[in-house]
Amino acid sequence: MITPTNKQFALPQLPYEALGTVIGKETLGFHHGKHFKAYVDNLNKLLPGSGLEDLSLEEVVRKATGGMFNNAGQVLNHSLYFEQFSNTPHTMGAKLTGLLERDFGSVDTFKKEFEQKGTTLFGSGWVWLSANSEGKLVITQHKDADNPVTAGLTPLLTFDVWEHAYYLDYQNRRADHLAALWQIVDWQVVEKRLPF
Ligand code: MN
Repeated sequence: MITPTNKQFALPQLPYEALGTVIGKETLGFHHGKHFKAYVDNLNKLLPGSGLEDLSLEEVVRKATGGMFNNAGQVLNHSLYFEQFSNTPHTMGAKLTGLLERDFGSVDTFKKEFEQKGTTLFGSGWVWLSANSEGKLVITQHKDADNPVTAGLTPLLTFDVWEHAYYLDYQNRRADHLAALWQIVDWQVVEKRLPF
């Protein structure tokens, strides 16, 4: 749950300047310093007087429409995205491994399906691993600023497939970028998002 301070959301600071060659320093400068910052600034301008200014970010995303939804969704999406990466990532623990094996057959099968759903999402959006209300793990595609919380899911892991996320490093090679992202996923962060 991400909560506002004095009715405003803050741009989270990054604990890294680059993530090897997977997400380079220049990409991070634009993606975090320009794109993400603009979503935070736009959301904070729209909040006063909206009636949503005391809610958590997840609640704002569930209730907002139009420009407010687009900016709030992108703040939530990017907050979860940048938090889940590390240059010294923790490996996957037994709990998450067991859940992925139960619901996808194997961790490798899960990764291939996740990459495939990211590669085949036409245009801009996000691919997500989430937990549903029955405790099952599911992969979903969400267009533009949408987030699994709008479908009643608990988001666990996401890859950003907007071109601004990878174009400086990988140009048109989205599939190669998605395959490389596994190197920097901190599985402890992902596992901590499990609601059970
Ligand atoms: Mn992005």
